[in-house]
Amino acid sequence: MKRLAEIAAVSVIGIAAIVWMNLPSDAEVAGRPVGDPSVLLGETMGTTYRVVVPGVTDPALSAQLKEGIDTRLEGINRLMSTWRPDSEISRFNTSEAVDHPIPISQETFGVIAAADLIKQFTGGAFDVSVAPVVSLWSFGPDRRPRAVPTDDAIAAARELVGDVGISIVPGEFGLTKTAPGSAIDLSAIAKGYGVDAIGRLLDDVGLTNWLVEIGGEVRVHGPSGRGDPWRVGIDEPISGERSVRRVVGLPVGDLAALATSGDYRNFFEEDGVRYSHVIDPRTGRPARTDLVSASVLAHDCMTADAFATACLVVGPDDAYDLLIERGLEGCLIVATDDGFETRTTPGFPEKLSPPSPPTP
Ligand code: ADP
Ligand code: MG
Repeated sequence: MKRLAEIAAVSVIGIAAIVWMNLPSDAEVAGRPVGDPSVLLGETMGTTYRVVVPGVTDPALSAQLKEGIDTRLEGINRLMSTWRPDSEISRFNTSEAVDHPIPISQETFGVIAAADLIKQFTGGAFDVSVAPVVSLWSFGPDRRPRAVPTDDAIAAARELVGDVGISIVPGEFGLTKTAPGSAIDLSAIAKGYGVDAIGRLLDDVGLTNWLVEIGGEVRVHGPSGRGDPWRVGIDEPISGERSVRRVVGLPVGDLAALATSGDYRNFFEEDGVRYSHVIDPRTGRPARTDLVSASVLAHDCMTADAFATACLVVGPDDAYDLLIERGLEGCLIVATDDGFETRTTPGFPEKLSPPSPPTP
């Protein structure tokens, strides 16, 4: 395994995951000036969102849309945010009821059922019942000091993974804990779900031409309105240089959602070892492979989000096979002896422009 000093150097520079093309400053989004009625900006899920609806020129309609988007996102947070003690999922997590179903909304149930399927597809690399381990490693909302736990504590938290079942009794959706202390963490999938939900909202009001992004997870529908594909940049480290941007055009239609997970996004270091917030549920420890970043293209953003996280868990070779097996496309940035290597699946969009020269 090559965890190079260089990776640490990259984290100091701070490679962002997905950023906009044509974004020299915060004054522009996707080539449109901020303040343009077609650009809607806001905050949600501890990060920012950006929505571009090329057809919208009326400021009143724009304001109305933004209100609808904020309301929808607030509703999702109220259900699924583990960072809110009063959300539906937090109430499930703190509940002491064991072995009988706790009723949950159809919406949360749907996300957990989808996550369960992805757990099966990824051999348990993606598992939303990993929450007790996330919290033990201090990446959860409880803000404990960041330190490596004892082996016993890891084994105990690991035991709780998988101890949540879903059930449907007629007319009611339920979640059941089979052990006290088991809990659900939707952080690796909720942003993608939020993107899809806002996309549906825009479709529902008759806007078939849009781009939605939450915290780097993005989905597009219809043409960009500028006669070219929607462009996004994936920041790509190159050994000995500052990160450069690989710009790609997102396909419209199938596989129009792109999500990225990176081990540099949230981590702590102890004794020179980096511990990432992406956890291998099978070992109860942070994922440690040569894969630095995974960007996944899928039909919907929830799937892209979950698989990007799963890729980091399984490492570059298995990630590549997993994507091919599931008909997804991906761009994997791998640490090598000489620096970094970018591997893409055959259908991943080509670079649109050569890398820009390193910034001094
Ligand atoms: P980000 O939140 O930076 O977009 P991810 O989508 O990869 O990154 O989500 C990582 C978060 O998901 C972690 O902070 C943790 O809360 C949770 N998580 C960590 N490992 C897993 C896993 N193997 N399966 C499901 N959720 C995970
Ligand atoms: Mg994810």
